[in-house]
Amino acid sequence: MLRQRTIREKASCIGVGLHSGRKIKLEILPAPEGNGITFVRTDMRLHAELKACIEHVADTTLATTLSAGVNGSRATVGTVEHLLAALSGLGIDNARVLVDGPEIPIMDGSAAPYVEMLQAAGLEAQRKLKRFLVIKKEVKVRDGDKLARIAPGSGFKIRCTVDFDHPLIPPLPYLFQFSERSFLRDLVRARTFGFLKDVEALRERGLARGGSLENAVVIDEYRVLNPEGLRYSDEFVRHKVLDALGDLSLLGMTVIGHVELVRAGHALNTHLVRKVLKDPKAFEIVEPAAEELEQAMQGADSRFPQFESIGSVV
Ligand SMILES: [Zn+2]
Repeated sequence: MLRQRTIREKASCIGVGLHSGRKIKLEILPAPEGNGITFVRTDMRLHAELKACIEHVADTTLATTLSAGVNGSRATVGTVEHLLAALSGLGIDNARVLVDGPEIPIMDGSAAPYVEMLQAAGLEAQRKLKRFLVIKKEVKVRDGDKLARIAPGSGFKIRCTVDFDHPLIPPLPYLFQFSERSFLRDLVRARTFGFLKDVEALRERGLARGGSLENAVVIDEYRVLNPEGLRYSDEFVRHKVLDALGDLSLLGMTVIGHVELVRAGHALNTHLVRKVLKDPKAFEIVEPAAEELEQAMQGADSRFPQFESIGSVV
């Protein structure tokens, strides 16, 4: 049965912040139904807590940053997108994410380390049923030749095209049809990437201090500089889809609709989320009846994104 999910016990790791270069401790705790995903800055007074929601998106250059005034101070958490993608890909609705610094540790630049720690902690089904945000009409945002669009359709699909005019990154569209299984197989290991010339420019501005070949694919004009090469031949476009999955999770629940992204990044992804949520005609929130979800779990109803069965209800 497709119920809301949290994790069974605390998951934790220590890693480096991509931009600050600081060592940061990340802990993920179970949370009750209806909590959603919240971030807690444990290094701040009164442990400022902020919700992962579109209203808190403060910056989308290089990564997605959430920020809010909490208890009289400003709490900011950067580089949330890969962790949000991991939570959303595993169907985790409720969790509290504790960090003792201003950004989520980058780990290996993909969502795989977060997925591993969440799976090791174990997923737990809660009593309340999952809710879905069903797209009812097309919503589009553009910025020059960049486009992000969502339209009604069964399941949750993301079609993504990148165009970097680079021999290693062919401008071929990648179509991702969401299921927990396809997420784990096709997206989870795709790492963030950068061009050598941009990395040098970022360093000069004091950014990407924690960046290295350990947590990003770096390419020069012709080749991949990482000695181990790529994890998927089209790792770049897959990573863009992973980013989009994280950003789109700011819609607040699993989406039913078809997304198209052309040269889009965090700015356009979050714009799209904002525009959908502003238009009450663009979506409907559906809480499917238990028997509908039962059929969905057996693959007999393609309207709903597929999640794997997990243990018994708490
Ligand atoms: Zn990314």
